[in-house]
Amino acid sequence: MSLPLVIFAAVFGGAAAAFLPRIAHRLAVPFGDSPRPACPLCGAGWVKVGAFCRCSRPYVVTVLTGALVAALLAAALGPSPVLPFFLLAAVAGLLLALVDRRCLRLPDPIVATFAALTIVPLATTQPHRIGPALGAGGLVLTAYLIVALLPGRGLGLGDVKLAAVLATALGFAGWPAVFVGLVVPHLINGPIGLVLLLTRRARPLPFGPALLVGALLAVTAT
Ligand SMILES: [Zn+2]
Repeated sequence: MSLPLVIFAAVFGGAAAAFLPRIAHRLAVPFGDSPRPACPLCGAGWVKVGAFCRCSRPYVVTVLTGALVAALLAAALGPSPVLPFFLLAAVAGLLLALVDRRCLRLPDPIVATFAALTIVPLATTQPHRIGPALGAGGLVLTAYLIVALLPGRGLGLGDVKLAAVLATALGFAGWPAVFVGLVVPHLINGPIGLVLLLTRRARPLPFGPALLVGALLAVTAT
């Protein structure tokens, strides 16, 4: 592990994350709607740094998460050619989590950006793993699609697409990584949903953040 690399990644991750809450705020609209207009309270458009308004929440948590995720990736991957792409993908992933948390949606353009930033560099550096990676992605796509089409399961098509993208990317690391990436999200959302149910605050939970945490753990721990 290279400490300067980890520190550099953490600073980059935190700095990039500082821009995300307001972008998420503008993107968090119902399906088919155009992005929200600038914030009526503070006038913030797409780009504004600093926490002083409802549209910037959760600011500190987002910045710290961005720094932590980037540091973990740098510590796990080291000076790998895929690291710069993964750091950018982490920014896209954090934006997805913020949007999903606000409106239970994972917009296709951000999922596609995330997919390009993870799968293309992996396919370029490990072309011999493309077969297993596509196999893992196809398997998860099929399984999640079936679950999403069952009535009342609370799994959206955005979740299905993101899960398939993550499984494809993790497929380059092998089946143990795919397995961890698939199981961890349920270990996160399952207990949270149960607590909400028991405290009579049951509500639909975003699954995107749990999927992304699972993939992060799979990348850094397997
Ligand atoms: Zn505002």
